[in-house]
Amino acid sequence: MKKNGSFKLYGIFGYPLSHTLSPAMHEAAFRELGIDANYIVLELIPDAFKKLMRRVSGFSLSGFNVTVPYKETVMKYLDEVRPEARAIGAVNTVFKQGTRWIGANTDMEGFLRTLVGDGGFRPSGKKAVVLGAGGAARAVVYGLSREGIREVLIADCFPEKARKIARDMGKIFKRTDYRAVEAGTLEVKEALQKADVIINATPLGLKAQDPAVIPEDWIPRSIAKKIFFMDLIYNPAVTPFLKSAKRKGHRTLNGLGMLLYQGVRALELWTGRKAPVDVMRRALLQALEAKGK
Ligand code: NAP
Repeated sequence: MKKNGSFKLYGIFGYPLSHTLSPAMHEAAFRELGIDANYIVLELIPDAFKKLMRRVSGFSLSGFNVTVPYKETVMKYLDEVRPEARAIGAVNTVFKQGTRWIGANTDMEGFLRTLVGDGGFRPSGKKAVVLGAGGAARAVVYGLSREGIREVLIADCFPEKARKIARDMGKIFKRTDYRAVEAGTLEVKEALQKADVIINATPLGLKAQDPAVIPEDWIPRSIAKKIFFMDLIYNPAVTPFLKSAKRKGHRTLNGLGMLLYQGVRALELWTGRKAPVDVMRRALLQALEAKGK
């Protein structure tokens, strides 16, 4: 496509970024919508990120994504941060309104859209266990709470991180009961037996040598009820966590839908157009397959 006056530039900032599938997904969408644009990857060390963001008002970008480890730090450079992103404590999408840069969290929306839309799981009145208390877990707990989940147990190796999420969310969502515990304890085992949905929001499962996030014998058999297991990881498509859940007869979903729908929402915020979801899904799957080769 010819680069003329209407050419737009989007991108992603983070470190490391060698794994990112976002350029494939967004450039496929731009082509489909006839938008003359590119999506660039800027892998930046903290000092470079800081220097770049100090000049954000003069950016010639039309919008950008931010990923680990800058989802929190980016907030101080923006003109406005959407309330839900502020509450989650992370911005992953930045878009322009006039001359102002606005930060949003589309991870949360992506998570809910795949859980409810693809998985058919409705959080209202249910019980959840969230494993991990990092940035992704905060988006997950916020999303579940917004949809009326009744109870959430958050487990992390550093229980103070889990307690912080419970405290922060408890101030916003009065109808949800939060508990925060240390990973690997009896309280987690007991909560797993009663849960309707169990979410892996830790990075355990990304690497073949990772230990199990929960022992398989802590997962009840699906005799009385089927539990919904979701892993935020999408590569590998079936993590040991999801494999164990499948073996016990439960329903499972990986994180590809979350990645797709956070991108869908970002594209819509940037362009004001309806995103071509199927085109973006296909591009993601192709990029994933190419990475596997
Ligand atoms: P993060 O900030 O590193 O947080 C992960 C948290 O899990 C950390 O607090 C970590 O503790 C904790 N943890 C590690 N092992 C644990 C265990 N056995 N039990 C309980 N907690 C444990 O990572 P993140 O950004 O939140 O991302 C988490 C995962 O979600 C990653 O795999 C990421 O790729 C995925 N993700 C997917 C999407 C998507 O679109 N599908 C979007 C965002 C994130 P330590 O600090 O001690 O390690």
